Amino acid sequence: MLQITQPLNFLGTVYREIRQSLVDMGEMFDLLAQPAEVQDKPDAGALAVKGGAVELRDVVFGYDDARPILKGVSISVPAGGSVALVGASGSGKSTIGRLLFRFYDVGNGALLIDEQDVRDVTQDSLHAAIGVVPQDTVLFNDTIYYNIAYGRPEATRAEVEEAAKAAKIYDFVQGLPDGFDTKVGERGLKLSGGEKQRVGIARTILKNPAILLLDEATSALDSETEAEIQHELAAMGQGRTVLSIAHRLSTIVEADEIVVLHEGVVAERGTHAELLAANGRYGALWHRQQAEDDAAA
Ligand code: ADP
Ligand code: MG
Repeated sequence: MLQITQPLNFLGTVYREIRQSLVDMGEMFDLLAQPAEVQDKPDAGALAVKGGAVELRDVVFGYDDARPILKGVSISVPAGGSVALVGASGSGKSTIGRLLFRFYDVGNGALLIDEQDVRDVTQDSLHAAIGVVPQDTVLFNDTIYYNIAYGRPEATRAEVEEAAKAAKIYDFVQGLPDGFDTKVGERGLKLSGGEKQRVGIARTILKNPAILLLDEATSALDSETEAEIQHELAAMGQGRTVLSIAHRLSTIVEADEIVVLHEGVVAERGTHAELLAANGRYGALWHRQQAEDDAAA
């Protein structure tokens, strides 16, 4: 996703678009009806990032009072750990990501990063601590270099190239006639879904956040490309706290903990093996996806 450490005085619509691009661009119209953005407290200080531990403490939230989305959800991701969120479409997975960014405030409970309530710190410092790879990386109508450097505009050329290498897009870029100066986006070179995600990964690597939010980062890709990108995502997750939302369960089997959301509460939680053994909601979903894969093969 686009990073929002830049001054927030850029257009409200763009801000909203970015806010939602964590997930569903299709819901733009709903979003335009959103109330004003949350404000920093007058005395807000910068988030002091230690290891990037994330904690949802009994979080209650709804976009409107009439319809609660989260009805008391507690999740704890230790610094450097990984938690995957699973649940039906609309169960509130992406909403948790939006709350982490404090695009909205919780109705009750709290969301903490390294023991600091996100409501007490500046949004700039909060956004700087979190990197997002959404389903569709948004590319600017600008050069590949710009699109990667956006992760940390003050980065050196060498750092941008290093990030491209780590995201396994460097060779591809070098092979283009204009290399890193190639214009991309709607008015430039059209990149494939996988190439776009690699640019997004390079951007995030450059940003070097303590916390990573992967929101269906590979769900728009074919399964072969998905498997490739999965490597780079896993590498990027090393030494960071990772909150991942996955459509394909096969991409999250390694998570330290899998949390199954259902009707606003945590219905199940455990490792992949534990949840399979419990043979509940997760088990059913897993077996259904396996059957679909077999049918497709
Ligand atoms: P998931 O990521 O699990 O598919 P979301 O967290 O995106 O689900 O959405 C949870 C619920 O909240 C859905 O019913 C969705 O329609 C609703 N929702 C999402 N964004 C907004 C919004 N900006 N305003 C109102 N309702 C929203
Ligand atoms: Mg979602």
